[in-house]
Amino acid sequence: MSKSKFIFVTGGVSSSLGKGIISASLAKLLQSRGFSVTIQKFDPYINVDPGTLNPYEHGECYVTEDGAETDLDLGHYERFLNVKTSQANNVTTGRVYQTVIEKERKGEFLGKTVQVIPHITNEIKRRIRLLEDKGTFDVIITEIGGTVGDIESLPYIESVRQLRWELGKSNSLVIHLTLVPYLSAAKELKTKPTQHSVKTLMESGITADILVCRTEHEISDDIKNKLALFCNVEVDSVIQSIDASTIYEVPLLMKNEKLDQVVLRKLNLKSSNDTNLEKWSNFVKRLKFPKNNIKIGLIGKYVELQDSYKSILESLIHAGSENETKVEVVSIHSEYIDKNQIENEISKLDGVLVAPGFGSRGIEGKIDAIRCAREKNIPFFGICLGMQMAIIEFARNVLCLKDANSTEMNENTTSPVISLMENQKNITNKGGTMRLGSWECKIEINSKVHGIYNSEFIKERHRHRWELNNDYLCELQKNGIKTSGVNPETGLVEIIELPSNNWFIGVQFHPEYKSTVECPHPLFVSFVSACLNYKKSKN
Ligand code: GLN
Repeated sequence: MSKSKFIFVTGGVSSSLGKGIISASLAKLLQSRGFSVTIQKFDPYINVDPGTLNPYEHGECYVTEDGAETDLDLGHYERFLNVKTSQANNVTTGRVYQTVIEKERKGEFLGKTVQVIPHITNEIKRRIRLLEDKGTFDVIITEIGGTVGDIESLPYIESVRQLRWELGKSNSLVIHLTLVPYLSAAKELKTKPTQHSVKTLMESGITADILVCRTEHEISDDIKNKLALFCNVEVDSVIQSIDASTIYEVPLLMKNEKLDQVVLRKLNLKSSNDTNLEKWSNFVKRLKFPKNNIKIGLIGKYVELQDSYKSILESLIHAGSENETKVEVVSIHSEYIDKNQIENEISKLDGVLVAPGFGSRGIEGKIDAIRCAREKNIPFFGICLGMQMAIIEFARNVLCLKDANSTEMNENTTSPVISLMENQKNITNKGGTMRLGSWECKIEINSKVHGIYNSEFIKERHRHRWELNNDYLCELQKNGIKTSGVNPETGLVEIIELPSNNWFIGVQFHPEYKSTVECPHPLFVSFVSACLNYKKSKN
């Protein structure tokens, strides 16, 4: 008998309705009542993980503590719940098939014909129940990526059907997220797409227990009754999800709609506590009514798609709320930076953040922007490639190594200040082979970051192949770069700072993956506060 209760979240009518945010919001409500909850996501594409995907495809690749390259929804789960996820929380069709095919090659199916049903569905079910094996979760929320009716979602829907039967009715439920569009010509909300979508789900043997309806306008009781009648759900199980000004408001809206109460009733779960979202509400209040505002330039080459830098943008929101400051992010495309214009552009900003990235496109723009920030003493934050570019800029313009570069960009540079890590040299496979996940870093006591972290040892998550070339360390240090964080085992430089500037910090890791609503990341909090001080000093 299963100890955990399962909630399956499916989507209909349209993609991008925010299944991840609804799942995370429900999880937050249940967590605030004292339940332990986790969320997992199944993605119906053939890539084994999103690590090899261009950010333009599905947005940023989120990295977990255990070094899994995952869908950006896992970032929302961690930011909402303040609980760490792992590889088990994100599975793709590619990974499912890879496991089944590897078993087949080992002869483990004993001569049987390997088929979608039962072999692929069994593997999907096994992976859904992996989290149950940990024995620590009262509730496991499983989000099925894609839209109901898609060919590639079918094996997942079938697995959910089977699992519901195996688990018993009161141990699982299905939440179907749909769109209730507003036709402005008719001045009406339309229920038909939702009816069709629920019907499609039924054709696969699944009845939705709860409908969450995305809408731009209030859904009247009449429409709720209509949806309930035609979609076979109870009236209180038609939940309105109206557009919110921030995703962080969604748990509060779902609480008002009593989503958690309906879920608990249907799962036969008794809760002794009411939801306690006081801390959360205060966070949202500070976010919506800031006392100050600042402009931070985000310099990267994927800026057209906001999701490419999701975790960085969310970390700035957390840090903004902590500082009671609205952070306006000015996206600057590094490829189109004009050397003659950049000073002008940057002097309108209160801080500069140079984003992570891969490949040579747009790096010269990043270097120009960093020079400007360094010379004008504007707060600068470089993340991963951003730190590497800060080293190249310093080497070129201060050490006068005009050809300084990373061997990622120019293999034949005469001054390889950023070089490929030794253990990366023989790697040819691209998927899952970077230096990934959580690694320790020792912080120098006499440094700015020591004051920020208030700790001598920290752990941060990584995703890179290149590193600062320690052959140049002495020269960089002699000229003013402080290497304030180093991996204690390998000596690999993790943090650099420029003590001559007010706030100039570069990190080889990705602090943005660890910032949550409850624990905004100290580096982002300090950066936003430095930008605020800089702005005040300008006026
Ligand atoms: N391309 C660089 C490397 O692999 C930086 C990676 C990143 O910014 N995540 O080292």
